[in-house]
Amino acid sequence: MKALVKSREERGLWLEDVPEPEMGINDVKIRVLATGICGTDLHIYEWDAWARSTIKQGLTIGHEFVGEVVAVGSNVNDIPIGQLVSGEGHVVCGRCRNCLAGRRHLCAFTLGVGVNRNGAFAEYIVLPMSNIWIHSAGVPHEIAAIFDPLGNAVHTALAFPVLGEDVLVTGAGPIGIMAAAVARHAGARHVVISDPNEYRRTLAEKVGVTLAVDPRATPLKEIQQKLHMQEGFDVGLEMSGNPNAFRDMLANMSHGAKIAMLGIPSEDISINWNQVVFNQLTIRGIYGREMYETWYKMTVMLQSGLDISGVITHRMNWRDYEAGFAAMRSGNSGKVILDWSD
Ligand code: NAD
Ligand code: ZN
Repeated sequence: MKALVKSREERGLWLEDVPEPEMGINDVKIRVLATGICGTDLHIYEWDAWARSTIKQGLTIGHEFVGEVVAVGSNVNDIPIGQLVSGEGHVVCGRCRNCLAGRRHLCAFTLGVGVNRNGAFAEYIVLPMSNIWIHSAGVPHEIAAIFDPLGNAVHTALAFPVLGEDVLVTGAGPIGIMAAAVARHAGARHVVISDPNEYRRTLAEKVGVTLAVDPRATPLKEIQQKLHMQEGFDVGLEMSGNPNAFRDMLANMSHGAKIAMLGIPSEDISINWNQVVFNQLTIRGIYGREMYETWYKMTVMLQSGLDISGVITHRMNWRDYEAGFAAMRSGNSGKVILDWSD
């Protein structure tokens, strides 16, 4: 089968003929129909320090996908052939304290699909049945293909109650924009998103935020006044990994505010800890999705009117993957979808 492989220890990705993945008795084999390109995939393409220390040569990459089931192992009796499914991108151990307690997103032995084991940028992928999400009828393929990053957005946006609250999202990448839409859907009063990138601010406005702000041009204090906020944002969703964004957030939160951090800092961040202590802030790290409460919430929010379709800006055939990665690299993109259906 064809697959996008990190076949050389240098910058790039290569379309290769590789053997179809083998199945165990607990596995499900899926014919991939569409995939989303994630920032992680771009790191692997660029072969940065993280990728060099993490990725083994010969890996098939990719973890955001939708496909249809073509075969199941002999232990799998409730996933029909032909079913539309996506895969949870974290394969957990199932035996550690957190896994046994049902807190599988906290497993310390998590393996990443398309990072530590072969991924979804291929004609077929095999996953354990415990990693399969069965889609409800009516979910469009391209939305189903991005359930993984939508799940990051949902997990973060719902980490703290947002009903009636003023929410600040730093970073209008695809996940920040989806998180803003989720906060809106979940009843936030104002949702302000900040990003220096104009293309992304415009995209965020289309998906529906109160204001999209260039933090270099307009201080968030001014935004607070404009929106008649009493003392600051109640909930912060950090979606950039940028030190200035995080410091900006800390300086603009109300006393007792809650911050959920998904953005992965690219360097150590020094902050004014007095703001955390005296303002009694709660800061919580978020990794991945809750298995499978986040997936359930995604499904029912889409059924109850959540619309994140505007975050998809590029659609192309899998053979044009270079153009897809170029769009991601430019920063002038939302989600990039590759169609694998032919
Ligand atoms: P992205 O890189 O596409 O978006 C980040 C955005 O932050 C960019 O648009 C950038 O312009 C913006 N930004 C830069 N400096 C800023 C500043 N000072 N203020 C406000 N915005 C600023 O990323 P994404 O794919 O949307 O993902 C969001 C973040 O979440 C990334 O850091 C990513 O690595 C991380 N991530 C974490 C997990 C997890 O499980 N914790 C999973 C997926 C992604
Ligand atoms: Zn575990």
